[in-house]
Amino acid sequence: MHYVIIGNGVAGITAAFTLRERDRHARITVISGESDYFISRTALMYAYMDRMNLRDLEPFERKAYDKQKIDRVRGWVRDLNADQRQIRLEDGRKIIYDRLLLAVGSAPNRFQWPGLNAAKDGVVHFVSLQHLAECEGLTPSTKRAVVVGGGLIGVELVECLVHHGVEVDFLVRESWYWPMALAKEEGELIANHIRRHGVKLHIEHEVNAVRADASGRVVSVSTNKGLDLPCQMLGICIGVRPAVDWLKPVTTPPEINRGIKVNQSFQTTLPDVFSAGDCAEFVRPDGSPLVEQIWYAAKRQGELAARAMLGDAVDYKPSLFYNSAKFFDIEYTTVGDVTRLPDDATSFLHRLPGDAVSIRVIERNGSVIGFNMLGSRWDHTWFERWIHERRSMEDVMQQLHLAQFDVEFGRVRLDGVRAAFAEYLKTGSRRAA
Ligand SMILES: Cc1cc2nc3c(=O)[nH]c(=O)nc-3n(C[C@H](O)[C@H](O)[C@H](O)COP(=O)(O)OP(=O)(O)OC[C@H]3O[C@@H](n4cnc5c(N)ncnc54)[C@H](O)[C@@H]3O)c2cc1C
Repeated sequence: MHYVIIGNGVAGITAAFTLRERDRHARITVISGESDYFISRTALMYAYMDRMNLRDLEPFERKAYDKQKIDRVRGWVRDLNADQRQIRLEDGRKIIYDRLLLAVGSAPNRFQWPGLNAAKDGVVHFVSLQHLAECEGLTPSTKRAVVVGGGLIGVELVECLVHHGVEVDFLVRESWYWPMALAKEEGELIANHIRRHGVKLHIEHEVNAVRADASGRVVSVSTNKGLDLPCQMLGICIGVRPAVDWLKPVTTPPEINRGIKVNQSFQTTLPDVFSAGDCAEFVRPDGSPLVEQIWYAAKRQGELAARAMLGDAVDYKPSLFYNSAKFFDIEYTTVGDVTRLPDDATSFLHRLPGDAVSIRVIERNGSVIGFNMLGSRWDHTWFERWIHERRSMEDVMQQLHLAQFDVEFGRVRLDGVRAAFAEYLKTGSRRAA
């Protein structure tokens, strides 16, 4: 049996090691155009800030692949012929598979703003090792940068540039920072924090046009609100999409919508071809499509897809949404539904006066459904448990100390939170989340 995996991200590598655990004899090949070894994509920013070297981005010892007999192939796959069970790489090499996993991840979005195509130099994304190298190469000749896109990748790129002494204009199209994941109050708290780091954050600004000099280096970006921002670097961080463009013209493409369509057993529409991670698209029970583009989901999908490839009966159910990150030095933990809530959801929000710390607990029909915590550290497994157990908000607020990681946050401060919660209950001020 030859298992071939395209993509050595967390989904592909987790699948490879899971296959090996269960099948000591099969041939396992992992192919990647990006890197020889699996890297932690979420830590790219620490490499850019020189806090980690490139080797530190690799979660596993390099010898692990040989020890586990996982063959690594470097190169871009350009064709898939499911009738012949064969893939072909850009350089012409052909590989025959028995079972194939497409774990090809995400690619950055790009708009066709006027002038962008003429800017051959200085325009970057921040998703891959190649992007990291481009950013590092441009930084010494960059005094000012414009970063577009108010999500997690955008703010990470901004933080890296600020770290290197670059002046940054940060353009966010929406009415507050990251409405996909933060309610207005938290979005404003983060926006103020970003500004305190010297970043010029422009809310409700979109790119109008990009200008380059005669050599092709970007020199300015104009916005819909009339700003003309000089810059030597333009970071485009306007979201990611499944990296499936290369699959559309292949000999036998799988069915693709936004991502590669799979059933709950990770099977694509092609025989013995599976897909997992950022590129896979599931169907929710209500029929709507679901593409999960987060680390923990990709890891879990990689493991389950491997089991499906081994012949186990697998019925994938997405976990509760969980994410944890940092906006400069503000910790962020979110679990469950925190945005796009139904009208009958209510939330308790408490902000610590003078601090960039806030707690939001969301409830619906007497049970908690989401947590959004900024500026302090929490053990998300408690939040997940309380949501699964359908605990009431009152119960959760009593137990909140159990989920505290952060000793500096302290019990005293939690007393303040509980006092605010008692007031919230007393005034009957449960309000729409
Ligand atoms: C800067 C940044 C910060 C992030 N921070 C967070 C975070 O804080 N929390 C969180 O949950 N998630 C975060 N994410 C998202 C998270 O990293 C992804 O969800 C996760 O890495 C997806 O893993 P994957 O294995 O599906 O795909 P990927 O890691 O994208 O791996 C896919 C691999 O396949 C390769 N490939 C694609 N096409 C081909 C081809 N044709 N031939 C050969 N190889 C190919 C790619 O080059 C790539 O190496 C972040 C992402 C970025 C970019």
